Amino acid sequence: MRLSTITNWAYGATVALTLASGATMLMASTAQKQERDAVQQRYELDHATSLVAEDIGVLSGLARQYAISGSLADLTAYRHELKELMKVEDRARHIRDAGASSAELYDLQQVFRQADALLDEQDAAIKVRGQGDRGQAIAILFSPEYERELERIQAGVVRFQSRIDQRTEMAMQEAVRTSRLWRTTSEVMLGITGLLFLCVLYFIFRRRVLHPVVKLSDVVTRLAAQDYAVEPPVYDQIDEIGDMAQALRIFRENGIERQRLEQERDADRSVRDLLSRMTQRMQNCDTIDDLRGIVERFIPSIVPSAAGSLFLLDCERDAMVEFCSWSEPQQSRSSFPVSACWALRRGGLHKAAGNVIDVPCDHLELTGKGVADTICLPLVARRGTLGLLYFEFAVGGASATVSDVYLNILAENVGLALDNLRLRDALQDMAMADPLTSLSNRRKLEVALESHVAEARPDLSISCAMIDIDHFKRFNDEYGHDAGDAVLRAVGKALKDAVRSDDHVFRYGGEEFLLLMPGLGPEEAARRVEGIRASIAALRLRHADRILGEVHVSAGVACAPAHCDRDGLVHAADAALYEAKRNGRNRVAIAPLKELEGRAAG
Ligand code: GH3
Ligand code: MG
Ligand code: MG
Repeated sequence: MRLSTITNWAYGATVALTLASGATMLMASTAQKQERDAVQQRYELDHATSLVAEDIGVLSGLARQYAISGSLADLTAYRHELKELMKVEDRARHIRDAGASSAELYDLQQVFRQADALLDEQDAAIKVRGQGDRGQAIAILFSPEYERELERIQAGVVRFQSRIDQRTEMAMQEAVRTSRLWRTTSEVMLGITGLLFLCVLYFIFRRRVLHPVVKLSDVVTRLAAQDYAVEPPVYDQIDEIGDMAQALRIFRENGIERQRLEQERDADRSVRDLLSRMTQRMQNCDTIDDLRGIVERFIPSIVPSAAGSLFLLDCERDAMVEFCSWSEPQQSRSSFPVSACWALRRGGLHKAAGNVIDVPCDHLELTGKGVADTICLPLVARRGTLGLLYFEFAVGGASATVSDVYLNILAENVGLALDNLRLRDALQDMAMADPLTSLSNRRKLEVALESHVAEARPDLSISCAMIDIDHFKRFNDEYGHDAGDAVLRAVGKALKDAVRSDDHVFRYGGEEFLLLMPGLGPEEAARRVEGIRASIAALRLRHADRILGEVHVSAGVACAPAHCDRDGLVHAADAALYEAKRNGRNRVAIAPLKELEGRAAG
């Protein structure tokens, strides 16, 4: 039942009880009036009948006096009194009007009849006395019969008055009882009304004030602890409680909005921190493998809702090749032509689903579930496109939750890091290469030697050949410096063409070259160098339309561990070269075996 219905009923009941209580009070007052009326009636009847009895007594006395005295004055007094008695009697005859019952009136009629008989006797006695018969008059008025009649009249009046008294007493008792009953009923009703009023007041206080205040207080406590899961109760009544509930609802909505903004801000800050840390780490990358580790470590945290891959441009094939990936992307091919990606074609971020509708890239595999929610970002740097960042969202539309701004920053930073690595590699290559012959230079030789010394197994042979062009100065002198350069380039190319993929060729300096041949023993190395010497000797070089003549080289071959230790290879090969020169040039000399050298020294 609704609260308003209950309170309306309660108000109705209170009003009804109050009216009923008023009515019973009225009834009680009526009963009291009846009581007063009964008393008044008794008084009037008593008074009337008392006067009759008294006047009859007085009249009888005056009649007797006259009978004895025969005085005219006594007769006059008697007649005056008789008139009075008639008036009183006349009044008493109308006692019915004063509420006397028929039984009471009957008694009164008896009294009146007896009084009339007595008056007749008095009349007779007065008449006799008027005729002078005193004795007869006294005999009538003082006879025992006359006395008895007088007493009967007195007794009749007393009986009438006693009846009246009894009836009045009963009427009064009845009126008192009725009055008391109505008064008690009225008091009980007033009590019930008061109780009901208090109950209604308590009920309203409890339901409308106490209960809502307790609930609202609980909500306030939870909201103060930032527990926005709590639902403020809805109180539509237009009062302070309703206002408070409304205010709490607004407060909660504001709190939820503030919490959302704070979470967004925190997530934003966390992404920015990650981006900044990732950028710093990428700036310190030495190798492309370092970059792979950083990308695989950071990107899944920066864009946690997506799997993805980093593609690098394979310039020779003009294709994108997957370099690394995270969270197992499924939708893209691992290698595809540059033209298959809209991001690469357009030179900017491209997505085909999510919060946009666009053309899907051709490198995406169609799954039958519609257009995949993916994002492609070209990695562009100073020297053009270097690669592609690819994101794939498992939940459709999730790409809309990722900020394009951060994705672009991410792509920019990865692109920059790639560019730096490539630049560094290019610079390193330039620093390690000889510009004239494009062979590795002496600096590179040192790096290669260090790594071979450090990494190769001690029992594994490694051979080294130091090759020097014989009488090179002659080319410079006879044909010019450019012709000398051409000879150096031709010898360098011949060396490069002659070696295996495991071998390394260096321009050691001037017209000297060095060959490192990992895994080759002394004989095999000597044979190979001899072949190289012969192939160079077979060259027929021309420069500026002039035949330059044959190019001869001398070479010294040393092998570790047969001839020397690894770190003594270059020195041993150089010594062998010196031997070859000393023995007439255009030949290959092999370093002496370690034991022989030891014995010779011994
Ligand atoms: P040998 O048979 O004893 O080795 O005599 P050689 O003339 O080959 O050796 P030498 O040391 O006397 O002369 C080497 C010359 O090579 C001296 C130098 O001017 C020349 N040279 C060094 N580097 C270059 C270069 O890059 N280009 C040219 N054209 N000449 C160079
Ligand atoms: Mg030389
Ligand atoms: Mg030389």
